[in-house]
Amino acid sequence: MKPSHVGVNPPADPPRDAFDLIVVGGGIMGAWVARDAAARGMRVALFEQGDIAGGTSSRTSKLVHGGLRYLEQGAFGLVAESARERAVWLRIAPHLVRPLPFLFPISRGARRPPWMVRIGMTLYDVLALYRNVESHRMLTADEATRLEPALGSADLVGAARFFDAQMDDARTCLEVVLAARDAGARIETYAPVDGLVLKEGRVAGVRVGSRAIEARVVVNATGPWLDRVSAMADGSSARIRRTRGAHLVLPPLLREHALVLAAGRDGRVFFVMPWRGYTLVGTTDLDYEGDPAAVTCTDEERRYLLDETRRALPGAPLDDRDVIAEFAGVRPLVYEAGRAASAVSREDLVEESAGGLISIAGGKFTTARAVAARVVDRAAARLRPARFAVSRTATTPLPGGSPIPPAERAAQRARARAVGLDDDQIDALERMYGSRFGELVDLAAARGTGGRLHQDLPWVGIQVDFAVEQELARTVEDVLRRRLPIALGPYRRDPAVTRHVAERMASLLGWDADARRHHLERYLAA
Ligand SMILES: Cc1cc2nc3c(=O)[nH]c(=O)nc-3n(C[C@H](O)[C@H](O)[C@H](O)COP(=O)(O)OP(=O)(O)OC[C@H]3O[C@@H](n4cnc5c(N)ncnc54)[C@H](O)[C@@H]3O)c2cc1C
Repeated sequence: MKPSHVGVNPPADPPRDAFDLIVVGGGIMGAWVARDAAARGMRVALFEQGDIAGGTSSRTSKLVHGGLRYLEQGAFGLVAESARERAVWLRIAPHLVRPLPFLFPISRGARRPPWMVRIGMTLYDVLALYRNVESHRMLTADEATRLEPALGSADLVGAARFFDAQMDDARTCLEVVLAARDAGARIETYAPVDGLVLKEGRVAGVRVGSRAIEARVVVNATGPWLDRVSAMADGSSARIRRTRGAHLVLPPLLREHALVLAAGRDGRVFFVMPWRGYTLVGTTDLDYEGDPAAVTCTDEERRYLLDETRRALPGAPLDDRDVIAEFAGVRPLVYEAGRAASAVSREDLVEESAGGLISIAGGKFTTARAVAARVVDRAAARLRPARFAVSRTATTPLPGGSPIPPAERAAQRARARAVGLDDDQIDALERMYGSRFGELVDLAAARGTGGRLHQDLPWVGIQVDFAVEQELARTVEDVLRRRLPIALGPYRRDPAVTRHVAERMASLLGWDADARRHHLERYLAA
């Protein structure tokens, strides 16, 4: 990438070349490792080859969930840990992670009869120690269709209602990185690690281009790229099994409940969820050998997801033209041969190579904080000072997650109105930035809001400045896909929106006309 791409924050940070701990990878695993280690007082650097959350961590089903389907695999430890972590997320990032009610519809002759669903649901509550948002409730078919009329099917015999949580994956990952930065970590994006520094057979740092940066501990948190970086340490391979998963964004089909459904074709569990005013449907689970950066939703996956959604919601007239957007990602699962892709465990495995490289395989977005705490415990044991021993990430709010007293909030909303924001915009921006919203209002007070990016969207031009100056955004795609939720909506190719963003970024980052065109083309091609 060109030097103008390189995102180093804070920009005035003096170059340091010795760290306690280096993290390779700016997905949710690497983000939490950097956050936890920096909060414990370690000198930390994180290197990400592209944008924060540019890999799998922005291509999820957007759920912070206990993982109902893992009950059938007997993965009770994973479900219990996920339920604990769901409670942590709801506490430390209430603006980005919100309770989401679900229905599990039961049809006549279904593979999972009502008694089995009831047992599963009870177990789900037990493993959450009855501390979920609400415990489950069994509903009649009439009660279920009153809640979600789209379900109306003669075969429906009832449903279970329960809670999980929905998140903004890219922004959540970003906020964890910002928290790491606030705690002193050096964050470099568009900085691929292309080699390791080895001293007497030990991993003693990383190479980024011509730079060698030393650290006492190096953590490989590169998700689907894990084996490539592991091989730099010891030439080994195949720690992970990569499976692909696709999602579709469809017009609104549901009122407020997400649906957990069993696919008619193969019995796999998939979700149909209300999401940002639209419907999110996913996912698939297929082995994948290609480049993780190049994964896309295939025609076959699109057909599968549309067919299964139509089957579950017979009233929804859906075809290819109704697909608003689609995306796909690659799961970095712990290597297991000989099992169907969807049956491979979602648990994590933290491994240390002979040279001391710590690699994280598997895990889920939901459990990443807990996995990272274990990784940093291991690093702390190597680095030794006692003050490194205790993780506090379960109780410290993310940067936008601090509670705001009502009077302060009212004053902030009044200030936002005074700079020209309408109430719908203030609501949307508060949800996006949480307690950081005041910082955006300060910037808007100094420079103006920049106006709406599109008359039907709440987002404003000044958010582009905020993304570049405060949130490590370096490309048009970073802004439209991961700082603002535009790339997965109907205005993703709107020329006025994309041009506005590109022009603002060009003036902030000093791009000439060629660079601006290059960035726009890259975004539109993705
Ligand atoms: C379709 C799908 C749906 C999912 N849904 C959910 C869900 O709803 N809830 C849930 O909890 N989990 C879900 N998951 C699982 C979850 O998304 C992943 O477990 C998690 O995001 C993995 O994070 P990671 O940090 O390990 O990997 P990634 O997010 O891929 O991060 C790895 C990073 O390393 C960087 N990198 C790679 N090589 C280098 C290098 N040499 N130098 C520097 N940087 C490098 C990459 O660019 C990347 O950003 C889903 C996964 C998929 C695929």
